[in-house]
Amino acid sequence: MDLVINWHITEACNYKCFYCFAKWQQKNQREILHSKQNIQQLMQEISLLPSILNTKSGCSFTGVRLNLVGGETFLYKHQILDIIKAAKKYHFKLSAITNGSLLNDELIKIIANEFSMIGFSIDSTHSESNLRIGRAIKNIPIETDKIYAHIQNLRTINPKIDIKINSVINQFNKDEDLNDFIRKLSPSKWKVFKMLPVITNDYSINDSEFYAFLERHSDLEDIISSENNDEMTHSYLMIDPLGRFFQNSSTSCGYDYSSEILISGVSSALDEIKFDVSKFIKRSKLIPNLNLNTRNSPLINEWLSRTHLT
Ligand code: SF4
Repeated sequence: MDLVINWHITEACNYKCFYCFAKWQQKNQREILHSKQNIQQLMQEISLLPSILNTKSGCSFTGVRLNLVGGETFLYKHQILDIIKAAKKYHFKLSAITNGSLLNDELIKIIANEFSMIGFSIDSTHSESNLRIGRAIKNIPIETDKIYAHIQNLRTINPKIDIKINSVINQFNKDEDLNDFIRKLSPSKWKVFKMLPVITNDYSINDSEFYAFLERHSDLEDIISSENNDEMTHSYLMIDPLGRFFQNSSTSCGYDYSSEILISGVSSALDEIKFDVSKFIKRSKLIPNLNLNTRNSPLINEWLSRTHLT
């Protein structure tokens, strides 16, 4: 099994979503992706993680899938090329999450040829909602038709590429019906997240509103994957743009950080954060598609009880 490492390569983004959690504690230094040497060093440290975790936790990771996240992942084309080159040296598989707005023919070719999976963050197909969420530049909202065209082009070049969609449900999109749109994009998985109050509580939704959204999309149950807060906590291995592990803070809004991997080494830095290997493995194996057709399904009942919806 591959160990998935989510590297948030930059905080910079061309959009300003109100709930954006890509905001890390600043230090007066450049993000790692702007230095080829630092990228190389980080990749080398990351390559040690499977054997470190196998020894510590008795698991059997065989490789790494490096998932590039932002900010907007494809904001800096040259730096992305440096990362791809360095990651290939260690035989990492590559995937990425993007808002899709900056893709062009050149980037699409690179992604199709070098990445096994690409996830698009799309919360809404409505201009008004996208404007209110902040997914707009100078009052021009993202054009979801263009993202559809990008997906078609990716599939033409690489029919095997895995396409996923991520949506964050909040006050501005909670009542929408995305059934037709998601069906048209035909992703292998649609990850639906209840907005987490990492940065702000404003415009968040309650469990009942989230469940109503899921239920409205129950025809897509085979591809919907939804995680509650407990399942997400400590089950992701995440690195920030300065090369620190981070996790959602257990005590307040914001994050807890390790020291910098490039300074203290990956093993010491890993010891400074909580990473629940068993939760990670459970999530990777199960990827709990919700059986939404019946509220009597054991899976949905378990999920409902954990999220206090019943
Ligand atoms: S598109 Fe993503 S990274 Fe950019 S502001 Fe919105 S949530 Fe943040």
